[in-house]
Amino acid sequence: MNGPSPDPAAKPESEPPTDQTQLELGLSPPPDPAVHAVERSGLWVAEVAVDAPGRDSYSYAIPQTMAAALQPGDGVEVPYGRQGRLLRGFVLRRHDQPPAKIRLKAVAKHRPDIHLPPQLLTLVAWAARYYRCHLGEFLAAAVPAAVRRGVQMRAERRLSVAAPPPDSRSLTPRQAQALGALAEQPAGHFTYLEAMALAGVGRGVINKLVAAGALLEEAERQIHEIHLPVKNERFALSDEQTIAVQRVAAALAPSRHEVFLLYGVTGSGKTLVYMDLAQRVIQQGGRVLVLLPEISLTPQLAARFRQRFPRLAVWHSGFSAGERSEQWQRVAAGEVELVIGTRSALFAPLADLGLIIVDEEHDGSYKQDSDPRYHARDLAVVYGMQLGIPVLLGSATPSLESYHNALQQRYTPLTMVKRPLGGQLPTARLINMREESQAQGRFALLSLDLVTRLRQGRERGEQSIILLNRRGWSPIVSCTACGHTLMCPHCDIGLTLHRGESRLRCHYCGHEAGIPERCPACGKAQLSAKGLGTEQLESLLNTAVPGMRTLRVDADTVARKHGHAQLLARFAAGEADCLVGTQMVAKGLDFPRVTTVGVIQADRGLGIPDFRAAERTFQLVAQVAGRAGRGEQPGEVIVQALDTDAPALRCALSLRIKSFYTEELRHRQELRYPPHGGLVRFLWSGPREEQVQAQAEAFRAAVTPALGDSLLLGPGPAGIAVIKDQVRYHALLKATSRAAAQATLNRILPLAHPLARDPVRISIDVDPLSIS
Ligand code: ADP
Ligand code: ZN
Repeated sequence: MNGPSPDPAAKPESEPPTDQTQLELGLSPPPDPAVHAVERSGLWVAEVAVDAPGRDSYSYAIPQTMAAALQPGDGVEVPYGRQGRLLRGFVLRRHDQPPAKIRLKAVAKHRPDIHLPPQLLTLVAWAARYYRCHLGEFLAAAVPAAVRRGVQMRAERRLSVAAPPPDSRSLTPRQAQALGALAEQPAGHFTYLEAMALAGVGRGVINKLVAAGALLEEAERQIHEIHLPVKNERFALSDEQTIAVQRVAAALAPSRHEVFLLYGVTGSGKTLVYMDLAQRVIQQGGRVLVLLPEISLTPQLAARFRQRFPRLAVWHSGFSAGERSEQWQRVAAGEVELVIGTRSALFAPLADLGLIIVDEEHDGSYKQDSDPRYHARDLAVVYGMQLGIPVLLGSATPSLESYHNALQQRYTPLTMVKRPLGGQLPTARLINMREESQAQGRFALLSLDLVTRLRQGRERGEQSIILLNRRGWSPIVSCTACGHTLMCPHCDIGLTLHRGESRLRCHYCGHEAGIPERCPACGKAQLSAKGLGTEQLESLLNTAVPGMRTLRVDADTVARKHGHAQLLARFAAGEADCLVGTQMVAKGLDFPRVTTVGVIQADRGLGIPDFRAAERTFQLVAQVAGRAGRGEQPGEVIVQALDTDAPALRCALSLRIKSFYTEELRHRQELRYPPHGGLVRFLWSGPREEQVQAQAEAFRAAVTPALGDSLLLGPGPAGIAVIKDQVRYHALLKATSRAAAQATLNRILPLAHPLARDPVRISIDVDPLSIS
């Protein structure tokens, strides 16, 4: 898997892999036409990053037929390994000189339709080295599979009734009847299959109607998106907005690299600042990249940008293969001025980038939690430096890393603390649920204050958002007789009850089971559900506030394509009074009629053994609180918790951001955690604990002599010791800085070879966000 990556900028590999040499020496028979082509040209060599583990790149001869056209960044197919299997890859460089070894295998296929701009190659090469991922694998992750496979978007053939309808005397009665039925359809458009079903006829009749000109056929290559309604946002900028825009704009014209950290309270109008700057760049002929943390934020923000920038591409993983491919090609062809999307949009093949904007820069979903484990915000800063362009990071709750960088004057701070609509920041109330339970004389999940406020809001036609960061009905099902808890058979984690579907589910591996009547341990029929999830919360709210219409937004309800956008569109249209959900409802949403925000079990995340627990809780609570009172009506935030003294909660609600950050930074410095230090996490997994443990310990033994002043903590069992039948061990490297961590990796990784042996796998997480 992850091996130490040699410097991609270093001397090219001039030798082909050994197994390939054998093939060329005639040890294996298959006469490869490509090889013959080489012998005649033999002059030019392409270095290709192949989509397979191994070295970063291999050398291939460029056949004469491709010699003129083949460019760095082009997609190719090349024979690889003993069998000469064709693999996809990208040309990194070409050398127009004879290869050291004349009998190189040749590039088999040139795919000029898939071209990465050279600056993107440079970025990916840097990232592969930094995140210790093989270059070919990183490229495979950066370019959607659909693009590499050359998937074409299928044009959908759609029919509509011609207007005016043709003389029906030219039609048979059957055809005329079918046409009549279709003409009455309100939709106006149908596929062939729909038309057959609607008119109750076979394909022959439809074909005749098309031939007669009674039905019009058009092929549509439409990327399906949900368009949320948005207001027109051509406002004059506020004073704070103007200053922020001017500061960044000063770096635009000379195209100077500078990183800005825009701290703007929720509702201070950061989006308008982004749009104004984007417009300036585009007017100068440049292109703009806007990154957002999550797919859930895309529909609303994308709609706001689309209003202003018609030549925009939305980029996230919710599209079909054909749509992604189409999108990629449009961007590559220069048809798009602004790309707005989630972390992978960083790798959109945009040329002439003039500005990168990272909204909600603190958000953890910028970090990919599978290999390659890159952080899109950090890479955006690197990209900006490589391109010599400004990067704008925005947030109401900056990450400690960025805050620290601003303190150190590496980033330029910009501040907006007013809401331009004149709206007050919401007032906040912290409710201690222990006291509440005593007052109510029973175990209370909802406080009377919250319920009263929701009732009043509903009567006034206002909306509300309630956050509980846990989905399902109950996270625990256990036996009241023997205490046994129902566990996932594949993971070291309890099963969550989903009552609506009568299922038990593992949220880690997806394992599902029916609900047993009796305890599998003691056989008594005394299983009971404990703990609160969003599904149950929704039902509690429906009982507590009669007549309040709720919509639930969590991973279970948004699973369908564009499910999230549809739910938000319904909320925006006023089809519901209350949005109940997980952290998906916390971020970025701008619904002016929302006056009440409730947070249930707000301190739950503080119990997680992770040095970022307080930071995350602070951010989540401050963000969701910012959804209240964005319109004319003042907002109120009601936060329920057991530990109402927690500084993370108190500071989030009083917006005492500085005191929280100062204290938290001091804490991190004491413990040498980021931003005061660099971390790398190693995670081993495999089917048998002895093997996993042995390999983790062998790694430790091998690297210890070269650790220098870095520390290696562990290895030991990971927080969740088993996932998907794989036993997990981890170890944490602590260094004095990120650079020191890289230097340590350079020293220690070559000592541990191979890094892991089958069936154990190792994953290296540079700058991990989660260490539990
Ligand atoms: P943020 O992203 O900082 O939370 P938004 O960009 O969503 O804030 O802005 C909050 C609200 O204020 C939006 O409804 C937006 O249209 C409005 N707004 C922003 N700037 C202005 C302005 N200069 N004049 C009037 N309304 C504005
Ligand atoms: Zn599981």
